[in-house]
Order: sequence, then structure tokens, then C-alpha cells
Amino acid sequence: MPDNNKELTLSAPLSGPVLTLAKVPDAVFASGAMGDGIAIDPINDTLYSPCAGVIIHVARSSHAVTVRADNGAEILLHLGLDTVELNGEGFAMLVKEGDRVSQSQPLLRYDLDKVGQQCKSLISLLILTNSADFHLRPITLKAVKVGEPLLHIVARNAEAANAEAVAGPEIHGQVRVAHRGGLHARPAALIRQTAQGFKSQAHLHFAGKSAPCNSLIGLMGLAVGEQDEVQVSCQGPDAEAALQALLAALATALPDDHHAAAPVCVAAPERPVEAGTLHGVCAAPGLVGGPLFRLSTISLPTDAGNNDPLEQMPALEAALNHVRCEIDGTLTQAKKQKNADEEAIFAAHLALLEDPALLDAARQSIAQGTAATHAWNQSIEAQCTVLQDTGSALLAERANDLRDLKQRVLRALLGEAWHYDVPAGAIVAAHELTPSDLLQLSAQGVAGLCMAEGGATSHVAILARGKGLPCLVALGSALLDQPQGHAVVLDADGGRLELTPNDERLAEVNQAQIDRQQRRDAQQANAHLPAETRNGVAIEVVANVASSHEAADAFANGADGVGLLRTEFLFVDRQTAPDVEEQRLAYQGVLDAMGEKSVIIRTIDVGGDKQLDYLPLPAEANPVLGLRGIRLAQARPEILDQQLRALLQIRPLQRCRILLPMVTEVGELLQIRQRVEALCLQLGIAQRPEIGVMIEVPAAALQAEQLAEHADFLSIGTNDLSQYTLAMDRDHAGLAARVDALHPALLRLIAMTCEGAAVHKRWVGVCGALASDPLATPVLIGLGVTELSVSPVQIGEIKDRVRQLHEAECQRLARDLLKLSSAAAVREACHQHWPLR
Ligand code: PEP
Ligand code: MG
Repeated sequence: MPDNNKELTLSAPLSGPVLTLAKVPDAVFASGAMGDGIAIDPINDTLYSPCAGVIIHVARSSHAVTVRADNGAEILLHLGLDTVELNGEGFAMLVKEGDRVSQSQPLLRYDLDKVGQQCKSLISLLILTNSADFHLRPITLKAVKVGEPLLHIVARNAEAANAEAVAGPEIHGQVRVAHRGGLHARPAALIRQTAQGFKSQAHLHFAGKSAPCNSLIGLMGLAVGEQDEVQVSCQGPDAEAALQALLAALATALPDDHHAAAPVCVAAPERPVEAGTLHGVCAAPGLVGGPLFRLSTISLPTDAGNNDPLEQMPALEAALNHVRCEIDGTLTQAKKQKNADEEAIFAAHLALLEDPALLDAARQSIAQGTAATHAWNQSIEAQCTVLQDTGSALLAERANDLRDLKQRVLRALLGEAWHYDVPAGAIVAAHELTPSDLLQLSAQGVAGLCMAEGGATSHVAILARGKGLPCLVALGSALLDQPQGHAVVLDADGGRLELTPNDERLAEVNQAQIDRQQRRDAQQANAHLPAETRNGVAIEVVANVASSHEAADAFANGADGVGLLRTEFLFVDRQTAPDVEEQRLAYQGVLDAMGEKSVIIRTIDVGGDKQLDYLPLPAEANPVLGLRGIRLAQARPEILDQQLRALLQIRPLQRCRILLPMVTEVGELLQIRQRVEALCLQLGIAQRPEIGVMIEVPAAALQAEQLAEHADFLSIGTNDLSQYTLAMDRDHAGLAARVDALHPALLRLIAMTCEGAAVHKRWVGVCGALASDPLATPVLIGLGVTELSVSPVQIGEIKDRVRQLHEAECQRLARDLLKLSSAAAVREACHQHWPLR
């Protein structure tokens, strides 16, 4: 009976003994992954509505039905366990979706004996699938009769906001899930992210279960496999748009999601007995030798109960906040380094850390006096069980990500320093490593990783492959009995950990390692020499930097100069704009860090998604198509004017070139060139610095010849050029792998830019990420690029690549690539023509 709009007393939908969810013999329901609620072991044959409301979902196999009460509570009534498998046999649904029902109206009749014999259990559930929005209080835990008061629910404060979100009719859609491996963490995170872009509430329904799209764990707990058909329901002011976006997100596989499929190399999983050898599964290839170093896990203090929630709750919040900041830092770094895998994995971690299923369970148990450490531990373990019980190996592997968060938050709660003292060159052995462990161990220079458990498709495996760290998983618990410090050989390619290699074997493995290192050292040693192709064409290999510190790094790594100084570093994360003097000092610092070499300074490229607190710009419907880059000069000319003044005061000015971002037409260049000339006159400068134009919108590439007439050089920004040519957001997690600058359309624009520049004898550089991709080096040289601005660590590698190439051959083969039909085809052809060593 509705007490008011917020409170509601739900009546018993069935007659029989009442159970708490924890007692239900089903991991998903018992863990609360579907939402909080209550269970009844029924003795009658009809299910009744516990409240007045609307039927919003009827399971295809008629064993479950969801009612939305008038206060927005969504109540799933699920008859029996695993009854979906009966395919509707023995059930008669009495209502249909959209029906209005009254309290205690019969909803579903079933054959008590038949269903009772054929299903796992008749225990039936009443679950609030949006329980995060309500407080639940059972009225009785004894036997009830239909219609008797069972559960009291009160909307939380968020109710007011939700009222708007749940207004309007509910709409539904159906779609086949295209994501490889089904809805595992990253696709689920994408669905969650998509749903969060709308005000409406969205749910995913599969096999009689439902999950709110804002819960990553809930989504994963549905165990939706590839090609499974799911239902999406949306309700709220923008329900139609939300539904379409979610259907599209579900029906579009994450591009190139090879990680979800079979691992790169898998050793025989049967474990042949071989003395002195452990057999496992290859998660990242390679062959290394070194001392074995065992990592231990965190142990919890013994006092779990009787704690003051007023102390424990803030402690948990602080720990969560701490970990959130750490992950944010990792994400920023990954974005900067354009490491799409790392970004996607840690974005999913961030989403998990906010998951209502995890947080609610931990908070509830703290409220009952459990220590924050134990509450967090239990909450994570419960969800790990849910994932492991889905029957999907892929989802079971994602429990590793939850355990990563478990450890990180526990460390923060226990105040444990998170630093492993592992010697460089060690082979680390652990029960199971997590993604964050891996980042830290890799930074410490370990040689390889092996785990007693773990999977080759786990996120930690993906990261290990990305870092080139050989890694074996599933070696069994014997791994943890091995003595510390003992020399071992990790033959990840062969799936073997050799525990007692003799001296000869160790020497052989070490030699292979030395050869590899020597190749790298040779690249490094020659990094300071100019790079010329085999036929003597000079290619400048310069660096992209964003501070004087990075410039010093680039100089030490052998950069021939700075090809792109992103000046935004000076303007962001502050409350007031830097004045001319502060800017002058910063630019001078970069110039000074580069010895005698030249520096290309790009004028400020903010606007779009890069907003400044002190430079409020009107909100834009399409920020990346709005006032950004050089267009900002039209809105706020004084900002660019101050920057140009600062630039013109650095010395020696001959070593400085100016680069203009986001130019779309010749007029923009001419206007700024005139301004620079006027300022030179004012400041008594006889020779203005060279001015270049970034080619990062298709219009600029198409007009390269006209731009080159008035510019001193052109520099291609392949990051934005890809975004604008392919019409794909360069920061879109789901599109990351498709925003590939080796797309033939991009190559045509690059070719056109070089041809246009050649008409006026201007040189062309590339400062987008494509320049740092060694596979692209021959293509760019072949198309006429003579300057490559790369990330500082890659100077040696790219110079080495240049030296292996012959310009005429690059020209001949690059032309043919323009005719191919996809970026993948271009990449494949590159591998064939110019294999990477
Ligand atoms: C580019 O767009 O390729 C480029 C180098 O500029 P940014 O990445 O700073 O937008
Ligand atoms: Mg750009």
C-alpha cells in the first residue's frame, strides 16, 4: 500500500517461509548483484503483485516479471532458481508488458509440482533492481501469506532527481551483442559510459535477469555472451536517444578487441611432468633468465567487528578517494602516451570503483559495525564469486581487476606503502598479479612475470604484452614453493618456467637477451647522429614536448630539435593567465634545454575540450568543431597577442619557429603573419621567425598548396587530421583502435599536403602520433615528409628505422598504399614491405 510518494510497503507476492537473500542458493542473487530484496520458498501456485504499478518486463520464458511501482521502485519477481531453463513449460503469464496492475493482482500461475520437480529450487525472489535508490527494511522474516506486509521501502534523497529520470513511458529494444567475448569489463564499461550520457534510466535484460546499465558489475553479472540477444529498456526524458545509443553500443564490437579472444600464444594447458620445469600458459611472449622473486599478499588484521561506523565510513571514503586519484593519474599518463589499452583498462577500474553494487555492500556492512578493511574485502570477494560463477572464463578473469581494487583500497586503508622492493632483472612470481602491480613492476625494470593462477586474456596479460614483459600464467601453486633468489629461465614462448637451468642454458638465454639489448643500445648510441636514408636523404627526427623538462629529456635522447612544443602546459590548471614575462621565461627554458637546436613553438591550442578556468568560452554543442586553436584568436585576440610578444622576446630568435594550430583557410594565416610582422617592427626585430601551419583539418590538407604559398613550412597533426577525416572522436574509448592515421584516406591527404608544399618548395613534417609509429616511417618518407616529430623515448628507434630505408623504394611502394581499402590493409602491406626488426 503506498504510504506516500517515497515510501511503500510491499505485500507478499507468494505464501511461504521468508528468507534473506544471503540464504538463497544462487551466487548472483545472494550477492545482491541484481539488487537488494528478499526471498520466499512458496507453497502456493500463483504469484501476485506486491504493489500497484506497471508491468515493465515479462521474461520470454514466463518465469519472471518486473513491476514498476508508482514511486519508481522496480521490482523483479523471479519464480524459482534457474527456471529460465524450463523455457516457459509449466508457467502461465497472466499479464503483459505495459499493463497496469493493482496490489495483489495475480501475475503468473505455475504448475507447482512440475516446476518444483524440474528446477533447481522453487525459492523465489523479490528484488529491487534499482535498490541503490531505496532503503529496504524487511517487515518479517517468518512465513507469510499472499498480501501480508513483507518489505518496507523508502526512496533515498536521490529520489527527486530520479523522479525526472523515470518519467514518461518506458521503451524497449532488442539487439544481438557483437562484442567479442560478450559483455566483459571493457564493453560493459562502454555500455555504462553510454548510459551515463543520458538522463533516462536504462536497464539491460537477459535470460530473465536485469541489470541497471550504470552498474558495471551488474552488467557483467548478466553473463551475456557474444551474439546473445539482449533487451534494453529506457525510461526518462531522453529515453529514445538513450535506447538508440545503447543498442548501437551493444551491436558494435569494440574494434580489434583481440584481447578478449584467444591469447596471443597459448602453451599446452595439460601439464606434462618434466623434472625441474613448471608448465603454464603464455600471456606475453619472450625468453629471459634471472633470479626468482616472490611477492607476498596483504594480510588483514584480525579485529573485524564492533567498529564505529562513524570512523570506518570516512576511512573507506578517504581510501577510495586516494585510489581514485591514483587511477586518474595513470589515466592521464596513458592518454598522454596514447596507450589505448592502458587507458581502457584503468577507465574500467575507475568505473568499478564507483560501482553501486560494491559500494552499497561495503557501506552496509560498515553500518553494521564491520571494519572498513573487512567490509571492502567481503564486498569485493562477493562480486568476484559472482563473476566466477557466471560460467564465462573471460568474466572470471575480470575478477582479477576487482582484486586489484581490493588490494589498492586495502593498502590505502592500512596505510601500507605500495612499493615492491624488487631488484631490476628479477623474474617475479606471485599467486596472481594485477594491472596496477604490473605498472609498478615494469617501472622497476623486472625481466619477467609468472603467476600460479591468472589468465592469458586478463588485463594484466594485455599490459604485459604492451610493455614487452614476458609473462606466464596458470603455473600452479608449486610456483609459490620455489626458493627466493634462485636463477630460473622464463621461456614464455614455450610455456615453461625452468627452475634449475644449468650454466650453459642460462648463458644461452642471457646471450639472446644481450643481443636484444645491444640492438637497443646501438640505436641509442647512434641517436645523436643525423638520420639519413640509405640513399642519403636527410630526415630530421625531432621531439614533441610540453615543458623544458621534457625538452631536456628529448635532447639527451638525441632529438634533432623540438618539432612541437605544446604551449598549453603553461595555461592549464591555474586560475589566472600567465603574463608575457612568465611565458617568455618558459619558452626560453625550452630553447635553452635544446643546445643549439631549433624549437617549433605552437601557439595556444585550447578551446574545444580543453577549457581554461580564466577564459570562459560559451558552452558549445560540438566543442571540437567550435572555437578552438587559432579560431580562439578571433574571440580573444589579446591571448594570442601576448603569446606572440613573449615568443618574439626569446633569444636567439633564429632558433625559434612559430606553428599555428587548427588553420582552415589562408586568411587565418595571413592575419597572424601580419600581426607577427607588426610586433617585430614594434620590438625592433629585423627578421621575423618562420611561421608554419598545422595541417590537422581536411580543409587545410586540401588547400596545402595555397597555404604553402604563405607559410614557411607545414606540419601534419595526424591526431586531429584522423579525427576530422574519419569523423571519429580521437578520445572515444570505443573507437580508439579505428582512429588509425594509416587509413588510406589520411595517406591521400598527407600525399596531397606534400605535393602542395613542393610547389612552393616548403618542407613538410609530421607531429601527430603517426610519426612515432615505426611502421609508418617508410610510408611518410615515401610520401615526401622530411621531418618526424616523435615522443622523446623513440628518437633512437625512429632514426634507426630511417637508416634502413631507401627513399626511391619508399616512394614506389607508398603510392600503392593509397589505393588500398583500409588501415588494416595498409598496416599489413607495411609489415610485408618493411618488416620491423
Ligand atoms: C595533432 O593533432 O596531431 C597534434 C599533434 O596536435 P594535438 O595532439 O596537440 O592536438
Ligand atoms: Mg591537434
